[in-house]
Amino acid sequence: MVLADKVCKSFGSLEVLKGITLEVGRGEVACLIGPSGSGKSTFLRCVNHLEVVNAGRLYVDGDLIGYREKGDKLYEMSPKDAAKQRRDIGMVFQHFNLFPHRTALGNVIEAPIQVKKQNKREATQRARSLLDRVGLADKADTYPAQLSGGQQQRVAIARALAMEPKLMLFDEPTSALDPELVGEVLNVMRELAASGMTMLVVTHEMGFAREVADQLVFMDGGVVVEKGDPREVLANPQHERTQSFLSKLL
Ligand code: ATP
Ligand code: MG
Repeated sequence: MVLADKVCKSFGSLEVLKGITLEVGRGEVACLIGPSGSGKSTFLRCVNHLEVVNAGRLYVDGDLIGYREKGDKLYEMSPKDAAKQRRDIGMVFQHFNLFPHRTALGNVIEAPIQVKKQNKREATQRARSLLDRVGLADKADTYPAQLSGGQQQRVAIARALAMEPKLMLFDEPTSALDPELVGEVLNVMRELAASGMTMLVVTHEMGFAREVADQLVFMDGGVVVEKGDPREVLANPQHERTQSFLSKLL
């Protein structure tokens, strides 16, 4: 479902991604870990073309991200085509980024109505069932400011799911939450994984990674240092850099 082939990304002279190669199968969950500045967020942003890669290729469900291929040449997509491609990829951020002047329901129906041109009744029906799925059926008419961080993040997940994405990207979805609220968000993500969603998750929740991920990817300095079965990587990291990172984390 996701194929990254030697993806490189620089900001000016700063090389942030130095050839990331990664494959995530349909229905699989990959957790990305690594020190601050290692390029985890940048990589996620490349996957949905919020950042333009400098070299290498990214495919989601067989589609080359951000470019069109003609012969052996690549042409960058128009912003309109890139936006179209991005619709199939849901993204959830550390800071929930809900629309503050819309209710939970209003947040969830916005994109299906504006972008997918669903009618309001249909969008509302689907949104209610998504809010129910994330345990917030009774908060449909509540504004973000009246919701806890965990509830806001669950609304953000429902909002992303409303676009029926093929792939979900999570960038540290629980790291802005009070510890007692982390579990409720991870539970929603766990259920989503169990339902067969393909997910790329930047997280330092190692319990979640061990239990849910098919693959644990350790990045450092813009490269994948080590990847594999999370239980194996956690129990028996092969590289010194992975060992030292994990020892600080646990
Ligand atoms: P963290 O764990 O702190 O979130 P990260 O692994 O997600 O870190 P990135 O946010 O991907 O790291 O950043 C990697 C590097 O790229 C950093 O040195 C950062 O300063 C730099 N960087 C990211 N975005 C930009 C940008 N738009 N312009 C210039 N430099 C950037
Ligand atoms: Mg980051």
